[in-house]
Amino acid sequence: MAKKDIDWSNIGFGYMKTDKRYVSNYKNGAWDNGALIEDDKVVISECACVLQYAQTIFEGLKAYTTENGNVVCFRPDLNADRFADSAKRLEMPVFPKERFVDAVVKTVEANIDYVPPYGSGATLYLRPYMFGSDAVIGVKPANEYQFRLFTTPVGPYFKGGAKPITIRVSDFDRAAPHGTGHIKAGLNYAMSLHAIVDAHEKGFDENMYLDPGTRTKVEETGGANFIFVTKDKKIVTPKSDSILPSITRRSLMVVAKEYLGLDIEEREVLFEEVKDFAECGLCGTAAVISPVGRIVDHGKDIYFPSGMDDMGPVIKELYDTLTGIQMGRIEAPEGWIKVIK
Ligand SMILES: *Cc1c(COP(=O)(O)O)cnc(C)c1O
Repeated sequence: MAKKDIDWSNIGFGYMKTDKRYVSNYKNGAWDNGALIEDDKVVISECACVLQYAQTIFEGLKAYTTENGNVVCFRPDLNADRFADSAKRLEMPVFPKERFVDAVVKTVEANIDYVPPYGSGATLYLRPYMFGSDAVIGVKPANEYQFRLFTTPVGPYFKGGAKPITIRVSDFDRAAPHGTGHIKAGLNYAMSLHAIVDAHEKGFDENMYLDPGTRTKVEETGGANFIFVTKDKKIVTPKSDSILPSITRRSLMVVAKEYLGLDIEEREVLFEEVKDFAECGLCGTAAVISPVGRIVDHGKDIYFPSGMDDMGPVIKELYDTLTGIQMGRIEAPEGWIKVIK
């Protein structure tokens, strides 16, 4: 076995078929034993619940090589917990937590030659997901489900440094009050596609969504949570029932408090307050943190003092510390790093 011949630093964020994927099917009230298979095609009924009523959920995490050569994942137990929460909200069976983590380990082991080397900036992205697979025409949950986990190598998120991005306040909502904003469901992404295409057409990198009830409070973007830094270096992150609880954001809050000794606050954040913050970043698995330099609210600009050239100093410290923990250069809190090989 040898590493695949891939130009790791130039692969971008796209799908590349790897050797094996993990599949388990749910039927007659129980999950089967699951297996690693080679077939990358899914064959289901034309009337499958996922195709008619979007009964599907997913997760996203990465496997990568640490400084001392181990292949690891970052907090996969939290992906398993969140996946269970998503399943319950869409009336799907829970895929047991131990089996979820086991599927992560087995699929990474089976595709180990696709795990990029340390220092390349690339990672092996893991996509666990589940969908209602049998025919449903009246509106009700499916009876049968498939859990699947595939991997695809992805390139470094920031090529040539993390340049601050520009985002706009969106007139579209990503989630309804008391809806499904807090779970990782495909349906939340289907409805965000128009908003992101429209944002890109108008020259913005992302949408900032406000709370759908009052449109006065900051929620998140289509796929990342906000973190703000106050002028006196406090870390503030929005709290809301319709935000997806990002594992990166939750980890950064621990890093801020325990490693950097900063005060942290998870609370409602009024859009009104945003102009007074010193730094802003977007947190998610893909980029860890993307710095935000400018927010446009219907023609009015907010520029953060950190500017449009570099990450702000506190965001950078958070970024360096969390990526240092992930890559094994800084000691991790107990249980954060799952060693696979
Ligand atoms: C996945 C996701 C995030 C980021 O979560 P991580 O666990 O940090 O990857 C943020 N917002 C939304 C809507 C998401 O789907």
